[in-house]
Amino acid sequence: MLEVYLDHAATTTIRGEVIEVVSRVMRDTGNASSLHNAGRQARRIVEEAREQVAYAVGADPIEIIFTSGATEANNIAIQGMFQIANDGDQTPLSILTSAGEHHSVLDPIRYLADKSGALIQWVQLSPDGAVSETTLASALAVVDPPIALASLMWVNNETGAISDIRALARLCQDRKIPLHTDAVQAWSIIDLDFRSSGASTMALSGHKIGGPQGIGALVAKRSFGPDPLIHGGGQERRIRSGTLDVATIAGFGVAAQSMVRDRSADTIRRSALRRRLASGIVSSVPEAILNGPPLTPTDHVVPGIVNVTFPGVRAETLLMVLDGRGIYVSTGSACTAGVAEPSHVILAMTGDEHLASQSLRLSLGRTTDEADIDHVLGEIADAVDMARAASI
Ligand code: PMP
Repeated sequence: MLEVYLDHAATTTIRGEVIEVVSRVMRDTGNASSLHNAGRQARRIVEEAREQVAYAVGADPIEIIFTSGATEANNIAIQGMFQIANDGDQTPLSILTSAGEHHSVLDPIRYLADKSGALIQWVQLSPDGAVSETTLASALAVVDPPIALASLMWVNNETGAISDIRALARLCQDRKIPLHTDAVQAWSIIDLDFRSSGASTMALSGHKIGGPQGIGALVAKRSFGPDPLIHGGGQERRIRSGTLDVATIAGFGVAAQSMVRDRSADTIRRSALRRRLASGIVSSVPEAILNGPPLTPTDHVVPGIVNVTFPGVRAETLLMVLDGRGIYVSTGSACTAGVAEPSHVILAMTGDEHLASQSLRLSLGRTTDEADIDHVLGEIADAVDMARAASI
């Protein structure tokens, strides 16, 4: 059976050169904090990877703090920035965010609301799922008490909607509010340039760019250090203690370098495939509704993500029917407990539970080709009919 993997937003195929470097470095013994030669060798590998990641994101090497992934980077940024703002002060503080954020942003914010009395100020999503300057400006206008931080994602992982983070950061800077941005899905399509972005911190993940799983980075301005969540040996500017995973970090560095090299060609190729897939689905299943950025080629289109609602069809059922045919898609962000839940992003955009539980995400990667798309288009109408019959 032909297998078509269209869940690259959940995790994408690791690059060959990454596998090579990880397996080579893994053979070496050495703790990057040790003073002897073996330790210094490990340190050199870590620092080279730090430079590669920094270069790829337009930051200084000292601004890269390696973490276990973007979940950890989002948690450090949000909890660590809130703790700094909250220090010893009795005034209740707000955190500004949107309901379309990833759970690794929403859940630490809700945790702070429960445990530390943070107030959450929600910014409305536009109909395409992005945050606009207008909605942010109106949210900022009504906020009282003071805002400890704002957390707004660059590209939405379920719809591909792009927010203009530079413009949003300017609005935050005018109010002296630090902005954290989850840039996980943005990095492989946009030249982020952390220096000019206006963000104070940014979260990155290795496995969304062809690097290893379990590695990512918090990018944090050198003048800006969130409180640590993990205390210990003081590695990574004392923000993230723990022995560095040298081989995985080396793989992350190489992945960042290759991703930047391939980015524009890959973006053009994937844009064409995305259009073919999205327009093909709508003509095969006329009642299907495309969510997120419109299909017309604009610079607000993320090449890799197609999010579709199939009215009357439970997304989970359609996912399983497609799975039985070797086509791997998702109902939104990868679900933690293996139980598909209605997409909180589509719910935030439409306010409709039914639409949220009838939406599928198909995400393309650098290994996706025309044959993959055509195979899906050949199966989709029949799979939808079958899933609809089973959804009644
Ligand atoms: N943010 C976004 C937007 C994501 O898509 C993901 C991965 N699903 C994460 C954060 C979490 O990244 P990681 O898997 O590296 O923890």
